[in-house]
Amino acid sequence: MAEINCIFCKIIKGEIPCIKVYEDNKILAFLDINPINPGHTLIIPKKHSETILDTDKETLKNIMVITKKLSPVIINAIKADGFEVCINNKKAAGQIVPHLHMHIMPRFNNDGLKFDWGSKKYSNKEMTNIAEKIKRLL
Ligand code: 5GP
Ligand code: ZN
Repeated sequence: MAEINCIFCKIIKGEIPCIKVYEDNKILAFLDINPINPGHTLIIPKKHSETILDTDKETLKNIMVITKKLSPVIINAIKADGFEVCINNKKAAGQIVPHLHMHIMPRFNNDGLKFDWGSKKYSNKEMTNIAEKIKRLL
């Protein structure tokens, strides 16, 4: 179901324009309006969901399959040196548009972009405790 106020649902319905690069009956891919590099592409399911948590497995599979299909083609078209794929889940992780979307972001050697989130230290005990907790909850 399309969400009335969702900007990406409006793009799917053609109410807001986009520059499409791929479409099938389940998936739409279009260029990001504010790219980190040329060719920055968003792959979205036509069925509205917000994050991977409320997205069914079949849809996630479709997103990944199309990511694999498009990545080498985009990279070849742009002559990029590498690329990142990512899904931001929820505001705390940088998700601005609450309709699931996979980013394909072309990267160039020395393009000056730094996705540097920093890193933290763990004690071995803390690491083990967290791993145990995750495994208990699985
Ligand atoms: P997020 O931070 O939610 O993972 O990424 C949302 C992305 O959607 C951003 O990179 C932003 O530039 C892109 N975006 C937001 N609104 C539009 C739009 O109307 N058209 C297109 N093509 N991209 C959009
Ligand atoms: Zn939506």
